[in-house]
Amino acid sequence: MLSFYAMGISNALMKIKDKINNSAAKAGRNPDEIKLVAVSKTVELQRIIEAIKAGAVILGENRVQEAREKISAFKSQIPPSVPSPGKDGTIRKVEWHLIGNLQKNKAATAVQLFDLIHSVDSAGLAEELDRRAHKIDKIQRVLIQVKLSGETAKHGVPEKEFMKLLEKVTNMDNLRLEGLMTIPPFFEAPEKTRPYFRRLNHLADNVSGKGFTVNELSMGMSNDFEVAIEEGATMVRVGSAIFGERNY
Ligand SMILES: *Cc1c(COP(=O)(O)O)cnc(C)c1O
Repeated sequence: MLSFYAMGISNALMKIKDKINNSAAKAGRNPDEIKLVAVSKTVELQRIIEAIKAGAVILGENRVQEAREKISAFKSQIPPSVPSPGKDGTIRKVEWHLIGNLQKNKAATAVQLFDLIHSVDSAGLAEELDRRAHKIDKIQRVLIQVKLSGETAKHGVPEKEFMKLLEKVTNMDNLRLEGLMTIPPFFEAPEKTRPYFRRLNHLADNVSGKGFTVNELSMGMSNDFEVAIEEGATMVRVGSAIFGERNY
């Protein structure tokens, strides 16, 4: 497994950003349109802060409860905006994204915590998020998670139900649909995930042609983000290559 963690978080982040730039160049894409989601699930706050100081702007968490503790501790330690370590010194807001499966009974907490929810995969969940977002007067940014790998994937809306969910989410007052997300089955060889990424891109193209706004494609993890970028990813979710192997 690709991991640069032994170099330290800051060097690992630089290495990943280099690879993002190279893959973008290879695909003739502008690297600025590709956002790195640093997946910080199971990572303790001090190391997350180290990553933020080294330039991580988006943190990805997969469990609401774990994220809630971290985010509140984080807010008490660091202001919501941190100066960029980059050359321009601009102030950036740190974003927290929910990348894992969300249960309806945690929707209320999720809308309080997360800037973007990647894992909307049912009408019931979308309705609950819309209702909860309305209550706190928020427009919740969301992605629809699509299941492209048949029975092997637990979560995500099956392709045949996708259009219906897309229409539904698009029409909700307090949700703003920004794009699509997928998790292909794990393959040791990253090339094997390419067809899944390509399929999500085609799906997005297809519905864009019908007037839906699906600009973001959240796809690619430590093992295969370079392939995902070649296939059009605008958000890559990279955990272990930055923070090291997790224990589960
Ligand atoms: C854990 C996780 C990732 C990151 O996985 P790595 O292989 O550590 O990069 C990305 N996306 C989702 C949905 C995850 O749960």
